[in-house]
Amino acid sequence: MYQFFWLLVGDKMFHVEQLEKKKCPICSSEKMSLVFPVKDYMITKEEFNVVSCDQCGFKFTNPIPVESEIGKYYESDVYVSHSNTKKGLKNFIYHLVRNFTLQRKIDLVSRYANGKKLLDIGSGAGYFLNKAKETGFQTLGLEPSEEVREGSMKEFGLDVKDISELHHLKNKSIDAITMWHVLEHVYELNRDAKQMLDVLKDDGVLIVAVPNPDSWDAKFYGDHWGGWDVPRHLYHFREIDIRNLFSKFDAEVVEVKPMQFDPVYVSMLSEQYKGRSVLHAIWFGMLSYFNKNTHGCTSQIYVIKKKSK
Ligand SMILES: [Zn+2]
Repeated sequence: MYQFFWLLVGDKMFHVEQLEKKKCPICSSEKMSLVFPVKDYMITKEEFNVVSCDQCGFKFTNPIPVESEIGKYYESDVYVSHSNTKKGLKNFIYHLVRNFTLQRKIDLVSRYANGKKLLDIGSGAGYFLNKAKETGFQTLGLEPSEEVREGSMKEFGLDVKDISELHHLKNKSIDAITMWHVLEHVYELNRDAKQMLDVLKDDGVLIVAVPNPDSWDAKFYGDHWGGWDVPRHLYHFREIDIRNLFSKFDAEVVEVKPMQFDPVYVSMLSEQYKGRSVLHAIWFGMLSYFNKNTHGCTSQIYVIKKKSK
């Protein structure tokens, strides 16, 4: 079902078409309930509803802008995941922490990959892919933004293609696929989840990192939680949702790992949305971190393998 509304970005007014999901993307149930409206604090200040499936409990943003319009919600230099700006304390820390976490990501991929062919979906500025290439992986990146894609190719000499290339890759040709905070942005969730597993070798590994709406800080901040990031985040996966989604395609989660720095980073965003000092974020981020064993971490990494037949 399509709807229309007007979107104001800076001084520009856009006519945006919306798409309403009638079924849960994971279990296809038609029954869903409103969790709460969440504001796009990052860019447009528009409100979007987060709903929860009555059957399986999966939370997703509904309705969402149609795919051809979503680019407008990324057109901002404050969207730090897709930019290299080092302005401001928050961005400075984000970039510092990224350097620490890159090596941990490479170590995890190296531990599970049985070969060197690595596909990074949503490769962004290319830092992870560059590190993987330096480590000896044969890398391919997929990135929807032409500007970001060309930036990463120019800066690091990487092989990066448009996201549509996913559907032109040879079946069973890839040893490891990584998606660092990307699955929650994918429009055709089931189609692309299946395609990822098709291009993966039978002994390949899929590594997916997503924010966790079951985390301590998600509960604490409620609709101000930085991890909702509507409408860019179309889905809000708990561990059980990741398990349910990939089991539909004969794959299973074999390890779950916390993203160590995300509690403080996401708490910083959440405190900013609440109009409070970032110092609160250090405290509440630490509290969330120390509660990660009971609630799950702010963001989690899922290591997924095909079920052996
Ligand atoms: Zn469901």
